[in-house]
Parts: sequence; structure tokens; C-alpha cells
Amino acid sequence: MKEPPLRAAIIPVTPLQQNCTLIWCTATMRGAFVDPGGDLPRLKCAATQSGVTVEKILLTHGHIDHCGQAGLFAEQFGVPIEGPHEADRFWIDRLSTDGQKYGIDGRAFEPSRWLNDGDEVTVGELTLGVRHCPGHTPGHIVFHHAPSQLALVGDVLFKGSIGRWDFPRGNHQQLIESITTRLWPMGDDTAFVPGHGPMSTFGHERRTNPLVGDAALAV
Ligand SMILES: [Zn+2]
Ligand SMILES: [Zn+2]
Repeated sequence: MKEPPLRAAIIPVTPLQQNCTLIWCTATMRGAFVDPGGDLPRLKCAATQSGVTVEKILLTHGHIDHCGQAGLFAEQFGVPIEGPHEADRFWIDRLSTDGQKYGIDGRAFEPSRWLNDGDEVTVGELTLGVRHCPGHTPGHIVFHHAPSQLALVGDVLFKGSIGRWDFPRGNHQQLIESITTRLWPMGDDTAFVPGHGPMSTFGHERRTNPLVGDAALAV
């Protein structure tokens, strides 16, 4: 059997059990950590065990559990940070204060590259699309690898739920629109890794999600 071009391993990190995902290009064995919020030794171990050379960090949004230690990781691995969208700068600026609440040594940082809707990022020989999905945070983005029918959606959508919209600059209507106009078009068969909890597919959520499923939005 031919090896798929992209492989992924989910490693829950921080006291908030955030799904950090190591994705890698099987042709080059070069990879990226998506949302390495903390637990650096465990992540290093996961990369070594998979035989992956980490070449960058990708971030979905500026919350502490997703990127509290991303700056530190970037320094230690000597790799660039790409994402999120610049509208999340105010979240990144308060990582050190927010970290104290959750027992995470949070540090502010400046990404090497802010991302916008329609941008592309590369990992080894793979190219992933970037969609801007505000609502949970204003600068939240989602990564999509169309050939693998896989999306990394952070805290936009969960299996059976959606992200919180009650944080500063959160917006419920915007969140619903991000999901229905930017995630659903990726296709029912597309699987997604949420920021917390188990994976699902967009089709399953359209059929069953009580907050954003087709039936919930029809009323
Ligand atoms: Zn979040
Ligand atoms: Zn989260």
C-alpha cells in the first residue's frame, strides 16, 4: 500500500488538554507542530519517535493553551512561527498574564509570518490552505490539507459543539458564519482535528451538531 503524503499525531498538552498536532510530509519526513501550547519535552519526544524533523510551528489562534509556549519552542527548535491572523496580537501580548491563571509559563512572541484568508503554508513538500475563521477569537485561522481531506480547526468547531464566543472580541454570528461558509465547503467527508476532544467530520457535524448542524440552523 502506498504511504499517504501527510501523517498526523495528536498530542494533548497543557492542563487544558489541548490537541497539539504533529503533521508531517512522509516524502521528506519534515513536519510542523500545530498549536504547541506547552509540555515541550513530550513534544520533542513525539517528534523523535516519529522520526520527524520539525521545520516550523503553525498556530490557529492566540489562546494560552494553543500557543503559550510556542515562542519558547520556536527558540529551542530554531524554527519559525506562522500564524495566526494578526487580529489575535492582543491575545499573544497577554500570554504571560494569562499563563499565571492556568499554571502555564506563557510568553509573548512575534510570529515570523501572520496569516490571512487564502494564504498557503508549506510543510516539507505539502501545501496547506489557510482560512480565516473569526468568532472564537478575531484572528483565528484554520489549516486545510485538501488532498488528505483533513482540517485543523482549533477552537472553531468541536465534535458536538462549537467554540466559545464570550471572550473579548468574540462574536457568535461571526463564528457560525465561519463554520458554515468556510468549513462546510471543504466537504462532508473532510475529517477535522479540533482544539479539544475527539476528531469528527464536517458531514457528521452537519447532521448532528446541536449548535451548528443543518437542523439547528434551519429553525
Ligand atoms: Zn481558544
Ligand atoms: Zn483551546
